[in-house]
Amino acid sequence: MNPAAVLFDLDDTLHDRRVSVDAFAPALHKHLEPWLSGVTLELFKATLHRVDHGGYVPREIFMTRLLESFGVTSGFDPLELAEFWRSSFAAYAQPMRGAYEILEHLRGHGIKTGIVTNSTVRLQQAKIDMLELHADAVVISEQVGVKKPAPEPFLECLKRLEVLPHQAWFVGDHAVNDIAGASAVGMRAFWLEIEQPLEPVGIEFTRLESLSDLELYLSSKST
Ligand SMILES: [Mg+2]
Repeated sequence: MNPAAVLFDLDDTLHDRRVSVDAFAPALHKHLEPWLSGVTLELFKATLHRVDHGGYVPREIFMTRLLESFGVTSGFDPLELAEFWRSSFAAYAQPMRGAYEILEHLRGHGIKTGIVTNSTVRLQQAKIDMLELHADAVVISEQVGVKKPAPEPFLECLKRLEVLPHQAWFVGDHAVNDIAGASAVGMRAFWLEIEQPLEPVGIEFTRLESLSDLELYLSSKST
């Protein structure tokens, strides 16, 4: 039976963070020019991906580590550099392959859609707006005061959609924040495999190689 709603994570699920970081790299490289004389864009990009850790590192620490990778340990303000990231990155946001198509497909089947994402409203809403992702409900962890895998962000989104957990599916890339979190509140969990270091363990989940694979689990009849 089809679900009444499908909820999605944002970063590395509907938003292709790796491609976005690549797109943002030239602007960041230029901003850091005073400290990076002679560092090629190619080398900068490779280092950027290595230090980024999928965005899970606070930006102040990330910027410090990034410059340290090039031997720069002083003479910069990590707060200013983090602010540059926060105010600029969303403009380069790129969608995950199949993101618009799966949202459209679900809508076409009368299935509601939601986005449940960690981080601040400022950062995440800017990406959602830039990508023009249309979902029936969006919950950003800052709004509920606690991050996934805590149940609150998931439950808040389900409440807004007026759907019970067992009627909903969740699609995300993070083994703990998404898969364990969604499963714990009673949703069926789909793991989008995106270079995550950890696989979900001890949890029932379905593996997706791409967002479009979700269509395989939907019946063609409208709910
Ligand atoms: Mg994610």
